[in-house]
Amino acid sequence: MKNADFIKQWKNTTQNNYGIPELALVKGKGLVLTDADGKQYLDFLGGIATSVLGHAHPAIVKAVSKQIAQLGHVSNFYAHPNALALANKLITMTGDKSARVFFCQSGAEANEAALKLSRRTGRNRIIAAQGAFHGRTMGALSLTGQPAKREPFLPLVKGVKHVPFGDIAAMRRAISKKTAMVIIEPIMGEAGVIIPPADYLAQVRELCNTYGALLVIDAVQTGMGRTGDWFGYEYSGIEPDVITLAKGLGGGLPLGAMIALGKAAVLFEPGDHGSTFGGNPVTTAAGLAAISVIEKEKLMQKARKHYEFLLTEIAQIPGVTEVRGAGLLIGIELEAGNSKEIAAKMLAAGVLVNAPNPSTIRIAPALIVTDAQIKKFIAIFRKVLSDGK
Ligand SMILES: *Cc1c(COP(=O)(O)O)cnc(C)c1O
Repeated sequence: MKNADFIKQWKNTTQNNYGIPELALVKGKGLVLTDADGKQYLDFLGGIATSVLGHAHPAIVKAVSKQIAQLGHVSNFYAHPNALALANKLITMTGDKSARVFFCQSGAEANEAALKLSRRTGRNRIIAAQGAFHGRTMGALSLTGQPAKREPFLPLVKGVKHVPFGDIAAMRRAISKKTAMVIIEPIMGEAGVIIPPADYLAQVRELCNTYGALLVIDAVQTGMGRTGDWFGYEYSGIEPDVITLAKGLGGGLPLGAMIALGKAAVLFEPGDHGSTFGGNPVTTAAGLAAISVIEKEKLMQKARKHYEFLLTEIAQIPGVTEVRGAGLLIGIELEAGNSKEIAAKMLAAGVLVNAPNPSTIRIAPALIVTDAQIKKFIAIFRKVLSDGK
């Protein structure tokens, strides 16, 4: 079957919630993807910030193959060595020995878990940011600060207030002794890679301390080394009460986690929450393999270095008004406000990127991206932007 055959049948088999895709991807190796027509693409979106080690990485393939051949699933009635090892690893990464991990499959579920955890404080008011993306299930959607995604599905969970991102005065006006939790992305990914003022997270932390509210850091997109740190908030020096992870955590497999620190770690009691596949041996094997490769190959340090280079190079391209981000999560602002058109032209030129809003191109390549691939991306991007000029 060719791309055209897939698309034709796709329309008649799947619901239209995503719109119709233009092509079918059938193979991947590293950053290179192949579609059903045999055309190759450089994946500069990293499977939408999930495939931190690229596609078909030997360490992931080996870990997953070994585990599926040994034991594919245990229920939550039983412990498993992989879930234990990954939980230990995540606890070490937080720097808080009292942290405790809940495993799930996705970012929405991780944030749902955080939302339920916050109810155990005995409070029920929540503050989130305008423009934030926290997922699409009803609880997570209640946290998501994007009216177009929310409005068709009202009423949502009550008591959630959305304040302008990065505006500490607005946060101060909104927070009170009734606030159960404040949820913030260290960098707003889906909104277009939006960065708050440098001291914002520290100031939000201080307000949460004053009012006794949990500070939840949604690191679903910024996590797993993408920004040059494990979670993406570390630059701020704060300690969150809750960290949510997914996307990159499973190295391309569906794995999420809600990590609660300090006193928040013991808010859940038996029966409070659950997920059938949470902590699955195969997905946690993939997560462990991904972390191990990120550490061994110093991919976080490399992500920081790549950022400096990309920032300098992209800023010089005519038509680009701003480049921002951290590590390998980068937003490129286009003067012409035609990001959808540019993303489509990049696809035609064999590079996958996306347009999270009308003026921004987002790139989030795998952490294993090479210098040569980065140079290739820059050359193609420069050419596409200068087309028709
Ligand atoms: C993608 C994303 C989510 C939702 O993750 P799903 O796995 O799609 O449910 C939540 N928060 C952030 C910051 C994200 O980028």
